[in-house]
Amino acid sequence: MTNPLYDSLFGRYAGKTTPFLHLPDGSTVTHDGFLCMAARFAHVFRDAGVAPGDRLAVQIEKSPQALAIYAACVQAGIVFLPLNTAYTAAEVSYFVDNSGAKLLVCDSSSQAALTPVAQAAKARLETLDADGTGSLSTLAEMQSHSFPTVARQLDDLAAFLYTSGTTGRSKGAMLSQENLLSNAETLVDYWQFTDQDVLLHALPIFHTHGLFVASNVSLLTGGSMIFLPRFNLDQVIETLPRATCMMGVPTFYTRLLDDARFTTELTGHMRLFISGSAPLLADTHVQFETRTGHRILERYGMTETNMNTSNPYDDERRAGTVGKPLPGVELKITDAGTGEPLPDGEIGQIEVRGPNVFQGYWQMPEKTAQELREDGFFITGDLGVIDPQGYVQIVGRNKDLIISGGYNIYPKEIELVLDDQPGVLESAVVGVPHPDFGETVVGFLVAGDDADPDLEAISTTVGESLARFKHPKKLIVLPELPRNTMGKVQKNLLRDEYRLLFTTQ
Ligand code: ATP
Ligand code: MG
Repeated sequence: MTNPLYDSLFGRYAGKTTPFLHLPDGSTVTHDGFLCMAARFAHVFRDAGVAPGDRLAVQIEKSPQALAIYAACVQAGIVFLPLNTAYTAAEVSYFVDNSGAKLLVCDSSSQAALTPVAQAAKARLETLDADGTGSLSTLAEMQSHSFPTVARQLDDLAAFLYTSGTTGRSKGAMLSQENLLSNAETLVDYWQFTDQDVLLHALPIFHTHGLFVASNVSLLTGGSMIFLPRFNLDQVIETLPRATCMMGVPTFYTRLLDDARFTTELTGHMRLFISGSAPLLADTHVQFETRTGHRILERYGMTETNMNTSNPYDDERRAGTVGKPLPGVELKITDAGTGEPLPDGEIGQIEVRGPNVFQGYWQMPEKTAQELREDGFFITGDLGVIDPQGYVQIVGRNKDLIISGGYNIYPKEIELVLDDQPGVLESAVVGVPHPDFGETVVGFLVAGDDADPDLEAISTTVGESLARFKHPKKLIVLPELPRNTMGKVQKNLLRDEYRLLFTTQ
């Protein structure tokens, strides 16, 4: 193969008028139409001076064009670097400066006020059009284009994806063609995707989940996608009857469950519901099964590794677990201090090895060396436990582990109790410095709609359910928890803000 990723995901559709993207306005983009659009972009990028191996940053709203830019980069051997559409000009500038991107493709909704370096790389989508008519935004104009595919090898870089920035500044993860291709092949097999599948796709495509899981799986099989710009409840409910499967984050499922229109009439025909990117609460799992008869299949992955584990398709989908390591992925639980493997049932750091594991962090050799061991195992930064049947449970992040008076405390255990209390919508537990215990536990609560949480009553209940060293020394009600643009709770901000609660330094 001249370009394995392009040939497997895109090239084989040349001339095929099978449906690929079903858009909310009722129109459809065919596989071949999509390829032509990508070829047109590939020409434009080459003419703009972007050479194979260069990085091309993209911050545009989800659309067929946005996905075609990904295909164009793969075809032209350019390293694709998608950016979260919520990033501000300052953030975009940082990523462009940091990555050395040759071109930044924006749409008219993107902000001005970039730094000079980012400004110099910036090209509005309309102005990239060679003849200046702005016709890149119309599909018809893009028919009958082709581009000579640039030869690439499996170990060449295909994409550069910044992590979500939940635990600190985002890091640039370098992903090879093999990283992406091997994972997509495994997932297609594991979840039994075929060309008959119609995937309801309401995820963003600047993140692993929507881009390398959802889109690649569909592209590899020749199925089609209902391609929604974002999770819009009305649109999801309207289009579910035409889908066979859906991939989502846990909030998609809780939002569907909150809507009375979400009944078995919409789900009876569905083959599969998948969840990932954040923990799926056991309660959501149970409610979903009671309402629809479907057990959501939960999986676990990250920017650096794509997908690591999944609950089985044919076997038991165990609530509260992220399933078993995917074929080809080795997963072990090790002691964070010694790095030695721990027996089943003991909590430790999760390490993974396999063709899915990235090539390192961009310009961070020390961090790469610390986290990507010489033997190929990557220290994920997550803590977990594996049971004798091989099911993995995520317990939290290593950085969030609280060590108080010599005890290891896992915030999730306390959060589960707090979340269950009357008047509590959600909670976050962090460790802050304490003069006697080193660290101690602080619980942050967000009130539900009905009543303010009764902090004294909550302390009493927590006291009855958890060992003394796990009791929060303080409970604090906040209007909301700090979250990053992916909706993940940023505990480092809470730790920073409340670090002087029990000490003066
Ligand atoms: P950063 O590395 O910049 O702090 P991040 O780790 O949130 O950000 P991502 O790569 O987008 O960036 O997220 C991967 C993380 O998401 C995993 O390491 C894990 O903590 C969490 N995660 C993913 N899937 C699940 C899941 N099913 N259950 C629990 N946590 C999950
Ligand atoms: Mg991470």
